[in-house]
Parts: sequence; C-alpha cells; structure tokens
Amino acid sequence: MTRAEAVNPAARAPVNKVYFMQNSQSSDAIIIGAGFSGLYLLHKLRELGLSVVVFERGGDVGGTWYWNRYPGARCDIESTWYSYSFSPELEREWKWSQRYAKQEEILAYAGHVADRFALRPFIRFNTRVDGAHFDERAQEWVVQTDVGATHRAPLLFAATGPLSDSNVPPLPGLNTFAGEIHHTGAWPHQAVDFAGKRVGIVGTGSSGVQTIPMVARQAAQTFVFQRTPQFVLPAEHREVSEEESARIRSDYAQLRTLQRSAPTGFWANPGPHRFFDVSSEERAEELERRWKNGGFAFLQAFTDMLTNEKANVEASAFVKRKICDAVNDPEIAARLTPTFALGARRPVLGDRYYETFNQTNVTLVDLKQEPIVGLTTDGLSTSQHHFPLDAIVFATGFDALTGAILKLNLKGRDGITIQDAWADGPKNTLGFMVHGFPNFFMLAGPGSPAVRGCVITSTEQQVDWLADCVAHMRRHRLATIESTAQSDQAWVETVNEAAGTTLTSTVDSWYLGSNIPGKPKVFMPYSGGFGVYRDICDNVARGGYERFTFSKAPAAAPAEQAAPSC
Ligand code: NAP
Repeated sequence: MTRAEAVNPAARAPVNKVYFMQNSQSSDAIIIGAGFSGLYLLHKLRELGLSVVVFERGGDVGGTWYWNRYPGARCDIESTWYSYSFSPELEREWKWSQRYAKQEEILAYAGHVADRFALRPFIRFNTRVDGAHFDERAQEWVVQTDVGATHRAPLLFAATGPLSDSNVPPLPGLNTFAGEIHHTGAWPHQAVDFAGKRVGIVGTGSSGVQTIPMVARQAAQTFVFQRTPQFVLPAEHREVSEEESARIRSDYAQLRTLQRSAPTGFWANPGPHRFFDVSSEERAEELERRWKNGGFAFLQAFTDMLTNEKANVEASAFVKRKICDAVNDPEIAARLTPTFALGARRPVLGDRYYETFNQTNVTLVDLKQEPIVGLTTDGLSTSQHHFPLDAIVFATGFDALTGAILKLNLKGRDGITIQDAWADGPKNTLGFMVHGFPNFFMLAGPGSPAVRGCVITSTEQQVDWLADCVAHMRRHRLATIESTAQSDQAWVETVNEAAGTTLTSTVDSWYLGSNIPGKPKVFMPYSGGFGVYRDICDNVARGGYERFTFSKAPAAAPAEQAAPSC
C-alpha cells in the first residue's frame, strides 16, 4: 500500500462496489462505537471494500478516553504497549511523551489515527443507538438511533467498550443533593474547580485511586468513602526522553513479538524463578527493585507469586508493609489495607496514593464500618455521621462488559431479546456471537479476554479474526453466521474453567458483575491468556468456523450486492 493510500483509503481502487453515501440509510456494516476497537474495525472493513457507518454517542473518537477526563486520568499500561500495532508507519511516527500516557495524549492519538486513516467521514458523532432488530426476511439488522433515523445493514458490530456504562449507585436522596455531582466515567469537558470546596469521593478502584490525590491537592477538604481497600502499586510516572522514544520506535518489531507472547498482551519482564527457589534475601531484593521501578512488573517478579498461596501471603505482606511505611497513622493504614490475596482483584497503579492520607485535609471514611445511608441536600450521610459537601465524585465504576450491550436493546431471530438471552448471564461463543443473533458481533465484551490485559492488543486480534470471517463469508457467498446454542454453552464452561484457575474468581468484583445490584453473578471475561485465546480462535477459523452455522445468500443476487450481505 502506498503512503497516500494508507492516509486516504479513498485513494485506493475499491475492492468491491461501495454504495455508501453520506446520508444513505443502508450500508454493508454498522459499527457501534468509535473507540479503539471501533476505529480499527472500521479501517479493516473499509480495506475489505465494505461500506460502513459508525454510530458514536460521543462528540469525537476515543471511546473511554473521550469520557474519562477526570483529574489524574491516564492509562496504567505503558504507552509502548497501549498503542496500535497494525501499522509500522503509525508506530514510527507517533511519539509518546510519558511512560503512562495521560488521557489527553491518548485522545490525541485516537484523533490522529482517525485522521491518518481517513476514518472520520464514516462516523456519525453524537448519535446513540437505542435499539436494533434483525429483519429475518431481508437478513439485515435495522438500527434505531436517538436522532430518529433508521439504518439497515447485514452486519452489526458492537464496539461499545467493556467499561463504558457508568454506574452511579442508586443511593436514597441522590436527586436531592444541591451541590455538584460527577462520575469519573462521564467527566465534564470543562475543567472542574474544586478549590476551596468540600469534596466527597465515593470509590477507591483504579479511577478513584487516580482521582483522589489530584482532588486532595485542590479541595479544602476531601472525604474518601471507601468500601473495599485495594492493593495500590506505585506507577512511577516519568517523561520519555527523545532517545528512549527513538529506541522504542525503531525496536517495535521485536517489542510486538514480546507483547504477543505475554498472556496479558503487554510485556512486564516476568521473572524466571519460582518464589521459594531463591533465598529470602534475593526475594526481598527483587520485590524491592520492582517496587521502585513501578508498574505491573511487580506482580510478575516470580512465576508463582500469585498462584502459590504461601508466596502470595509473603508478597502481600511486602505490600502491606509499604502501606504502613507510607501512611503516618497506623489506624488509617490498617483501614487502607486489603484483606484479600494480592492479585485477587485487578491491581491498581497509583501515584503517591497512600501518602495522600497524611494530608490534614483528607479524611478516610470506612464504609464497612459505617455504610452510606443516603444523600441530603447538603451532603452525604453514613450510618454514623453526616458529611456536609459541596461536590460529590462517584468513582464507582461501570456496569462492565454487558451494560452497554444490553442498552442496545437488541432483538434477534424470532423476536428474542438480548435481555432474555442473557437473563442468567452473558452466554456467547468466543466472546464474538450470541445464539439467536445472526451477524451480530461483539468486541471486548463478555467471553473475550480484553479486560484481562491490554485491551488494544486483544481487540486488534479480535478485529483481525472478524475481518477474516467477513472475508470468508464474502468468498463463499454466505448471508449469515450464527453461533449455536451448544457452542455458547461450551464457551461459558470454558470461561468458567479458566476463571477457576485464577484468584480473581474468588472475590467480588466487576469481573463477576457483583458491583451492580441484581446483575447475575457470573465470571465474564476469558482468563486463559491472550495467546491461548488467539490459538482457539485461529483453530476455529481453520476448521471452517466450526461452532458457527451459516446460511447461503440467494443465488440470484448480483455479485456486488450479495457480497456485502455475506
Ligand atoms: P471499579 O474498579 O469498579 O471501582 C469502583 C469503586 O467504587 C470500588 O471501590 C467500589 O467498591 C466502589 N463502589 C461501587 N459502588 C459503590 C457503592 N454503592 N457504595 C460505595 N462504594 C461503591 O471502577 P473503576 O475504578 O472505574 O475501574 C474499573 C476498571 O476500569 C478498572 O478495573 C480498570 O480495568 C479500568 N480503569 C483503568 C484505568 C487505567 O488504565 N488507569 C483507570 C480507570 C479505570 P467495592 O470495591 O467495594 O465494590
């Protein structure tokens, strides 16, 4: 491909007849979401010659990085890994300025990708999909948006993001509070000024841990409402020098090979030894070295650190000592210390998080001791105290993995709703398809490994697989693809089996849906590792897409028209 073609796909000769026009009501494919997976999928489908329209509820590309603009927001996976690998030209030209990119920089990168690959003309911004049903006669999806239009396409893709449906807990009195309310996952575009204010922050997950130190620097008083303490590892942010950036960009081929070999889709220098195969001095030295360097590499110091119970207890004790060292008041340190095993919940990276609780304007409120009873016009009440507040920040996470897909109000074959299909939890095959919903595909959803590591690495693999699947359908003049009920059930069992080998299935978290009242408690992401998942997907494709059934396109259809409808 020439550079002109890469920058502007319209410069390429079309592979097939493209009948999409700006205001057309139908296309070959509809993608919901212009985050990282939606953008790459759009690029791949355009390369196949499909006409594509993308509906994006935000005003720009970037998905999670468009919405999560809270103070301190940045990726906790290093920029080297948290970036697209599909284009060597893109890798060479984009320079990350920091070890962990800030939200603004990641958003700028998404915008650059959209421009560089000429993707924007196919995206309808500020357009939310409210419903979609499968028209069995036409073998097309019919999609309704909040701007009133109806759009048809044979192929429908949900690139809606695993963590995009913000969860504001339905606390009594929520609507009576007279001050400002913000959620980290839907932060205002204008700067929020907390100077001189009394601010309550509810939630101490990844978002809360990043937000709290930043708010505490500004606010007159910060009240942190903590339900479950987390293991917070030091991130050790730093600038990336020109030399380091040049080295990374010239080494990308080797770096991506390393990345693809890691079960989490990013490389964190896994140590070669088992925990008790080295002396206690060597263990302490290695843990200390990794703690000082920062990042998730700490968790990979020893091969069995998170799986061998005795090793885990010792490593957890190391982190607990660090919490005690950082926090002046031993009682507060105790309240900040988790009681679950290290790695049982998705670990969190922070920047002087524990030290923030030494500030005199910061108060930790332990919701295990005094649960929230509700909000009033002037603040928040727990079972023991009332806290007058000017602003409340909910860092309370998301209805993860299924929330955004359920909100699409899908109706598949025979009028079956996605709500019915998933009444007991999100059944699907390979995280891609749901029985009863032909030609509907998911990215980074339940059953996929995406949230168990670097989401971009995972979704690039998923997009490549789906693009190959679409090409296969076009080659063989297939109209629809659908997973079988048996294969959905079998994949649920595989996901459960893989979860059973990890600590993460042992404690409540958003992986299990236990953060959302009434949500079926089912372990949702595939935890067998990115490489294993890739091999399973590739074997299914090599076996002629076993686990899926196809229907043929009508024989009389002209080639160009039949191809897009698969
Ligand atoms: P989260 O991990 O689900 O944390 C939500 C927090 O809110 C938890 O402390 C939770 O307590 C608390 N909470 C929820 N409902 C509550 C209620 N009714 N009352 C009191 N407390 C309540 O959400 P998150 O921090 O937004 O992170 C979600 C995921 O997004 C992360 O695991 C990560 O995958 C991703 N993320 C990544 C980054 C990054 O790359 N830097 C940043 C942010 C988020 P419990 O723990 O007791 O439920």
